[in-house]
Amino acid sequence: MAKLDDLMEELVTANRILAREGVVDSFGHISVRHPDNPQRYLLSRSRAPDCIERDDIMEFTLDGTPVDPRGRAPYLERFIHGALYEARPDVMSVVHNHSESVIPFGVTGKKIKPIFHMGASIGREVPVWDSHDRFGDTALLVENMDMGRDLAKRMGAGGTALMRGHGATVAGKNIRHAVYISVYLEVNARLQKQAMDMGEVKFLTAGEVDKVSARTGSYGINRAWENWCRRAGRPFRAEQG
Ligand code: MN
Repeated sequence: MAKLDDLMEELVTANRILAREGVVDSFGHISVRHPDNPQRYLLSRSRAPDCIERDDIMEFTLDGTPVDPRGRAPYLERFIHGALYEARPDVMSVVHNHSESVIPFGVTGKKIKPIFHMGASIGREVPVWDSHDRFGDTALLVENMDMGRDLAKRMGAGGTALMRGHGATVAGKNIRHAVYISVYLEVNARLQKQAMDMGEVKFLTAGEVDKVSARTGSYGINRAWENWCRRAGRPFRAEQG
């Protein structure tokens, strides 16, 4: 039980950090797989991430059914989370956002690629999921498992996918990892646009991406996490929840 409580606090912190770092605004969300039941996940009720409190955290089955809603309204796009946990046993945390600098790369055919060492965490290739390919004209929201599974399929074995005309989804091996990738996906997109405006860009090579990724462990991620906790006004725990 202590572990579940710690994880819920960590999820609140993650929401506040994503807001403070400009990855989410009034919209966007982060979930974590339930520590005691891999067929369930934890996600806030429908609320802006910077407002989220411990009591907003709800439990869901992988198909998006709330376990004990107590009148709390869930996010319409919660299916993104369940579909990824269903498809990927290695994924323990999922972020969905409308990260501003990322959006242009989902609509122009210009690929987002690691431009600096911190950007290596986005992966060698970042696929773009276009809901229109299979679902035609929609409100662009992932509002059922069919759409969620299609998005998960497009992400494949990686940790990132852009969503055309909408945003991005990130999958990580824990909350801090998913937040880390999400922050640097936004930073990479911003820097890449600046570099492209200046001329031809020399991106990280595939080998460089692999070498940086191999060195990105909990030491570096926790160092960032401590700093982000301070900026977001949240207590820092050396150990993850
Ligand atoms: Mn969305």
